[in-house]
Amino acid sequence: MTTVPKFSLVAPVYNEVDNLDRFVEEAVPVMDKLDGGFEIVLVDDGSTDGSHEKLIALHNKDPRVKIVRLRGNFGQTAAFAAGFDYAKGDIILTIDADLQNDPADIPALVKKLEDEDYDIVAGWRYDRKDKFISRRLPSMIANKIISMTTNVHLHDYGCSLKAFRYDIVKNIKLYGEMHRFIPAIASWMGIRVAEMKVNHRPRVAGVSKYGIGRTVRVMLDLLTVKFLLTYSTRPIQIFGLMGFISGAFGFLLALWLSVQRLFFDIPLSNRPVLLLAVLLILIGVQFISMGRLAEMQSRTYHESQNKPVYVIKDIAE
Ligand code: UDP
Ligand code: MG
Repeated sequence: MTTVPKFSLVAPVYNEVDNLDRFVEEAVPVMDKLDGGFEIVLVDDGSTDGSHEKLIALHNKDPRVKIVRLRGNFGQTAAFAAGFDYAKGDIILTIDADLQNDPADIPALVKKLEDEDYDIVAGWRYDRKDKFISRRLPSMIANKIISMTTNVHLHDYGCSLKAFRYDIVKNIKLYGEMHRFIPAIASWMGIRVAEMKVNHRPRVAGVSKYGIGRTVRVMLDLLTVKFLLTYSTRPIQIFGLMGFISGAFGFLLALWLSVQRLFFDIPLSNRPVLLLAVLLILIGVQFISMGRLAEMQSRTYHESQNKPVYVIKDIAE
């Protein structure tokens, strides 16, 4: 019988062949010091530089190093998702495999999570070692926007080094560039999130897989996340309200115009406001129908996944 490890360290790998030896060398002793057993789940996201052979060699040397190999390059978020599906630990840690995050920070994250009963402890690369114009500046702006839009306030959403409780990562689905939004997505469950300064190092081997283009994708994903967080369980209340306001305005305008036309003989032919009234009524009808459609969609969404609209922490009976 194999015992289930208490800690799973999940790291995405895409063409990092020259970083892997050192990554495992640094991570294993750190994980080994944690009490309860561990596994390191390295997700090979379709590497083509020989990373896979290296990973298999590392697994053969130490079976606590598990390799999940994806069929192609699905992206960092998908790689994390694959790692989460595989991971068995009560506490799931994420980290990049490129050595920019420092495994030595892990015990402090775990300690905070356990001792202070947090659900997520996120790393903050307060002294980030990346290029300023193409990486740090856009990320600073993105972090501000994300912090203003979601109700989880962190300094550094993009830091891969984070610690999660098992139910957090098992309860959410990730798409696009969304791994950075896990704290925000999970916030509807009423979780406790903490932040902790962590070390960040310059890349010594391999190349960064991203450029400025990621910022745009992250911002688009933010729109989706925001929508899911605010409206997904009650779309009619949002669309319906907007539709109702617009329709009511249009109706009042039209009523006023009709009264003037019918009882005071004021002609309608030179009243452009008539167009506005018609427009507002049409928009109102459209918003309300959209809300009703969204309502049906959200039922399909929740029920097809058996996704409850609540999350239980524990039950005493
Ligand atoms: N990565 C991945 N799939 C990709 C791109 C990146 O698994 O399509 C991994 C990569 O190997 C690294 C981590 O994600 O471990 C972060 O990537 P990178 O260092 O390029 O991002 P940066 O640190 O520059 O933001
Ligand atoms: Mg990196």
